[in-house]
Amino acid sequence: MPLPAWVPIREDLRGYEPYGAPQIPDVINLNVNENPYGPSAEVAADIAESVRLAATTLNRYPDREAVQLRADLATYLGHGLTGDRVWAANGSNEVMLHVLQAFGGPGRTALSFAPTYSMYPEYARDTHTRWVTGQREEDFTVDVDRALALIAAEQPDVVLLTSPNNPTGTALPLDTIRAVAEAAPGVVVVDEAYAEFRREGTPSALDVLEEYPRLLVSRTMSKAFALAGGRLGYVAADAAIIDALRIVRLPYHLSAVTQAAAVAALRHSDELLARVDELRSTRDELARWLVGEGYDVAESDANFVLFGRFEDRHAIWQGLVDRGVLIRETGPDQWLRVSVGTPAEMEIFYGALKEVVAT
Ligand SMILES: *Cc1c(COP(=O)(O)O)cnc(C)c1O
Repeated sequence: MPLPAWVPIREDLRGYEPYGAPQIPDVINLNVNENPYGPSAEVAADIAESVRLAATTLNRYPDREAVQLRADLATYLGHGLTGDRVWAANGSNEVMLHVLQAFGGPGRTALSFAPTYSMYPEYARDTHTRWVTGQREEDFTVDVDRALALIAAEQPDVVLLTSPNNPTGTALPLDTIRAVAEAAPGVVVVDEAYAEFRREGTPSALDVLEEYPRLLVSRTMSKAFALAGGRLGYVAADAAIIDALRIVRLPYHLSAVTQAAAVAALRHSDELLARVDELRSTRDELARWLVGEGYDVAESDANFVLFGRFEDRHAIWQGLVDRGVLIRETGPDQWLRVSVGTPAEMEIFYGALKEVVAT
């Protein structure tokens, strides 16, 4: 529904819809790459106890700098990182907004490689940052020569590399990240929301963080950590880059409740991440099954698989919804994305897809 004309919204925002994947009750959710395994009763109880304690001082503002949480996130990341080199916010989406507020803005340019995460252009729009996209190759990798040519031509203030990429699942080799980090005149953000799901031997940009002071590596607790509802994303970078992000954050942006829940969840990272191996093998099985059924399947280092191709992907998506399975209509035309669920959920998806394509 377009806004009525009397609403004096910014002209460049007129006609837009709020972002959102459909949320449909009583379906199997394979559409937003959540972890299908929630916290155990014990972990939930510990998170609840930490939140209860935080509640006793909710008359006070929270720790503005989230010192303990950032230190704990640094410990989780390893690589010799410390809390002053980690920033945290309400989801890595807010981290990305902070990045564009601090390093983008009017007269500045952000660049990424499509198909990629559909939220980036919205943050660019919201921060009046010019948005430029290069194209990924047929296999959804980023060609280094073409990327460098585009960077040379556009001189972007912010480059966003998503690895593993959403919605394709493609991880970038370190050589690509190094080449871009060396060529880019501004900051380079590697969005590693799905890092924990990457296959054996796939590197993380954290491995080269020390070499590039303008490199940022963002992560989230929403996916592997099974904490999407907690809203906690974070980024590792040079301490001076973190200080730049601190300038644009709202005061007290991370509630005491959020900080307490995230710190408690981090105490149980082993358990929360325990299902990641299982999800990775379910992912590999899912990809094999789709290939076996004759589909094109993008190689995935994430907890979802992009597959196709369909003349009318919307009809397939709708047919699955009608059978109680919600996947995502996103990415290049003719492709669909399915998140990795429990083995039982995948069986239901397989059955439903077979039915839909047979009709
Ligand atoms: C899911 C996702 C995120 C995580 O967003 P949060 O705000 O942390 O929940 C970030 N980047 C990409 C590419 C994603 O797919």
